[in-house]
Amino acid sequence: MNIMKASHYLFIVFIFQIINTGCNRPEEGIDPVFIEYVDLFIKEAADRGHTFEYSDVRGIRFDDIEESSVNGTCNFVSRDVAIDSDRWEGASESSRTSTIFHELGHCILDRRHITPSFPSGICKSMMAGGEDADCIKGFRLGSVWYTYYNDELFDTETPTPDWYVTEINKPILETLVDTSVTSGIHELDITQFDLSQNFELIISFYNWQQNNNVILNLGEQRFSISNDFIILKNGFIKRNPELEETTKVRFVQYDGFDYFFVDDEMFHMDNLDLDFTSLSMGVEQLDELEEIEIDMEIELNLLGN
Ligand SMILES: [Zn+2]
Repeated sequence: MNIMKASHYLFIVFIFQIINTGCNRPEEGIDPVFIEYVDLFIKEAADRGHTFEYSDVRGIRFDDIEESSVNGTCNFVSRDVAIDSDRWEGASESSRTSTIFHELGHCILDRRHITPSFPSGICKSMMAGGEDADCIKGFRLGSVWYTYYNDELFDTETPTPDWYVTEINKPILETLVDTSVTSGIHELDITQFDLSQNFELIISFYNWQQNNNVILNLGEQRFSISNDFIILKNGFIKRNPELEETTKVRFVQYDGFDYFFVDDEMFHMDNLDLDFTSLSMGVEQLDELEEIEIDMEIELNLLGN
């Protein structure tokens, strides 16, 4: 390297260092893995008029937490966050974000656990936790929930959002499909329909058994219903649904929102941007018991105002 180039290089290094020290650098107590989540927390806070810096976060470290259901802890005295390394390893991105936000809710915002839930069983706050909490956190689902939970995180007075309803009844404009099929995976050819319109999909089962598991594939999303759980997007949205011998599952898409019902009871609403290029459904047996033929009937209706 000649002198000219060397001095140029040093100058660039020098400038870079000035810029770098001028920024708010991550504190040493934060494991680098968590920096992006802390950045996101700081951004969501700033969007809501609250200013936080890295230095407000005392420390976030991996640890081995013995309680099997605990993703992380906040030490209210030292303000240190510990994250269980095994559970972090297996967690989705949104679940990781939710874990860090929840712990920073304790350690920075000084919030404690609260347990209220919406009528559909979804928690009212991402600060739900502890032994009494049996609600489901919707944080990992659509963007309306993400926004709502962050609003509530930084402002405990946040009201129930306008979009949250427990019922949706709209008139049927046209019935596109009305068929009876038996068990196995049933592919519904929906390419002929314009499902950018508001519609509902109703699947009625006539001899539901305890070990059945309904699989509904909405585009790339796999939606699964059994007596133990209802799962969507790899997240639990309901535990132990009460499914009768005759059970009806209804899915409604209306004005960009998705509504999920079992036996006319809405258990979840969201904005999932589901892709309806393909649709299939079927019944699996959860264990090795004898296969049972399930009669199901499928109805696809366009809905009006
Ligand atoms: Zn907690």
